[in-house]
Amino acid sequence: MARRRRAGIEVKTDSQLAAMREAGLVVARALAACAAAAEPGVSTADLDAIAAAEIKGAGARPSFLGYHGFPATICVSVNEEVVHGIPAPGRRIRDGDVVSIDCGAIVAGWHADAALTTGAGAISGEAAGLIAACERALWQGMARARPGGRLSDVSHAVETAARSAGWYGIVEDYVGHGIGSEMHMDPPVPNIGRPRRGPALTAGMALAVEPLLVLGDPATRLLDDGWTVVTEEGGWSAHFEHTVAVTEAGPWVLTAEDGGTAGFAALTGAAALPASAVLR
Ligand code: MG
Ligand code: MG
Repeated sequence: MARRRRAGIEVKTDSQLAAMREAGLVVARALAACAAAAEPGVSTADLDAIAAAEIKGAGARPSFLGYHGFPATICVSVNEEVVHGIPAPGRRIRDGDVVSIDCGAIVAGWHADAALTTGAGAISGEAAGLIAACERALWQGMARARPGGRLSDVSHAVETAARSAGWYGIVEDYVGHGIGSEMHMDPPVPNIGRPRRGPALTAGMALAVEPLLVLGDPATRLLDDGWTVVTEEGGWSAHFEHTVAVTEAGPWVLTAEDGGTAGFAALTGAAALPASAVLR
């Protein structure tokens, strides 16, 4: 259990964050392997097998397998699929597809959760713009995950980045979340909002920030499989997510191999996270 809670939000000790970091590295490596393999002709079940092998090989457990009955290790959501796509051997990735991969892992009872979207083969400029806008919005949001800030500062930064990038729909039906001893915890982390609202952020909190952007209308509906969420109007979707810890030194991206240094530098212009912030 966490040492203490503040306003219903679990606050982690350094050793608990270290366990989350271990889980985060497992997730980072599983996602990297999946993204490298997401080429035309590969099935979404192939990607699931890659992630399962990475997680098992690291001695971790997948968060998603069996979660409310979910039947796979990862979610793979292609094109107009927004989230929670179920991997299947018959679902082959095609040239030009936009492939979103979502993965969670557990180490010593502590969770990490992340997602990315990648293009398979030659994607359109429109799709490339969507993917870039979504990733940038994630990093802009995480840059506000600092002590002294408020929760909605993160949401506001995500929204501001997304709206400034173009005419993208921001999905509101699904949001980010607190994370730690469970995958989905308080607080919800919306991708829109006015600044300076909600709980104060303090060191030891961890958030899964996960913008979902759409080319067009962001309204969604659930398919008959009970899991796969698609856009109502068929617009393609992108999804990026990281688990970020609030630390005195700044945001520590637990699911980025380098703790977030390169991402913050490239996508927010913020100074790199000091190496001293990276706990062991
Ligand atoms: Mg996720
Ligand atoms: Mg999540």
